[in-house]
Amino acid sequence: MGDGQLTAQGAPTNCDGANVLNCGFRLRVHSGRFTISGIPWVPRMKPSACLFAFVLLASASMARAETALCFRGGKFVDPERKTIESVVLQARDGFLVSISRDPAAPCEGTVIDLRHRYIVPGFIDTHVHGWGNPSPTGESADEEWGSLHTAKVALGAGVVAFLDMASESDNWKARDLARNSNAHARIFSALMLSSHGSDAATVRRSFRTQLERKPDLIKLFAGGEMIGVLADEAKKEKLKTVVHISSWEDADAAVRAGVSAITHLEDERVIPMALAKQMAARGTVAIPTLAVQCDMNEAGKGAAWLADPLLERMIGAAMLARYRDSKAYSDKAKRTMRWQNAGCRPNDFPSIRILKKAGVSILAGSDTGNLGVFQGYSVHREMALLAEAGLTNWEALQAGTTSAARFLGYAVGLKVGAPATFVVLERNPIENIRNTSALSQVVLHGRVVWKADAPR
Ligand SMILES: [Zn+2]
Repeated sequence: MGDGQLTAQGAPTNCDGANVLNCGFRLRVHSGRFTISGIPWVPRMKPSACLFAFVLLASASMARAETALCFRGGKFVDPERKTIESVVLQARDGFLVSISRDPAAPCEGTVIDLRHRYIVPGFIDTHVHGWGNPSPTGESADEEWGSLHTAKVALGAGVVAFLDMASESDNWKARDLARNSNAHARIFSALMLSSHGSDAATVRRSFRTQLERKPDLIKLFAGGEMIGVLADEAKKEKLKTVVHISSWEDADAAVRAGVSAITHLEDERVIPMALAKQMAARGTVAIPTLAVQCDMNEAGKGAAWLADPLLERMIGAAMLARYRDSKAYSDKAKRTMRWQNAGCRPNDFPSIRILKKAGVSILAGSDTGNLGVFQGYSVHREMALLAEAGLTNWEALQAGTTSAARFLGYAVGLKVGAPATFVVLERNPIENIRNTSALSQVVLHGRVVWKADAPR
């Protein structure tokens, strides 16, 4: 099993050599990195050259902002209240100390003029494999970063937190380092456990042993008999459970077992309304991961977003060039395109509409670490795809900000006493959800950590 310390056993299901896209992991975990037990293998981090033109302005220390900052003139786009209004934000020592709707409100310390700009809560991606970015030309050109570097890069996309779904040993270290840094997005780390087993007492004991890693959340693969046992144990520890599903039958069993969320959609069929209603009734959250189910195909067809300057900042010119040249794609990338072409719009988009109609809470999770999905960037694609599928722009923005924050128990939004953490946009995301990627500034704990006009 190499030198990674994987924490659980899990098995891909329904793997069909002729159609690997239909196996339990559906290539959503970087295939080719499977261990013999089917656990996705996260490679050792290797030093990689910094490809990024953006400049992170913060130091990696935990020191909070020492001087007061006052942000004047920006319009706050509040996803919860669905309002847009001009605010004067006063931050001191990393926290918001006042929020005024009065444009003449007094300002203390350095004044930052945000006229004609829009303030939104920081973005949160609830499904990430932070190891890096795969290349569509084959694994030899993959960019292997490790979660800590990803947390640094992602901040330049306005991502202030993400849920790392792989429980490889380096990820726990990265999680702890990022938590004590002002130059990284906050990492929430999921502990991946097998839901298989016949002996509940043994499963409970094993669960307790692994709590020493202090997971932020439990990830399970659907299909095991012990999902209910683990969901109950997790609840006792006030931990949420996310279950990776491949079919609606998987999802139905997980929802009945009382898990907190299901992630992915079945691509071959639209979700039955009865299941969506059941999710709403039980408060089960959906993390559909449209980006990993649609965007390799979009990229291969030359999607307009390949020209988004933020994407180039995130992945670098060389990787972007590989995505732009579909003739050089690997067979795996081409297979992924075919699978997505059949599933994304015909089945996944209608499923989103049914989930919405039933009243299920939907979160933005892009499943980075897979083909067609990009660390930092793809939370913007996820919000855009959710809107294209049928959410309103307000709902899509909630999915990538406040709803995701609530699920993770992380404070975002503008509240007096809360950390001064938010993103400033050049354009209104409610007029066009794609404007979420038009970043002007990223503010983390009262520090401007990224600026569009910073020296490159
Ligand atoms: Zn995943």
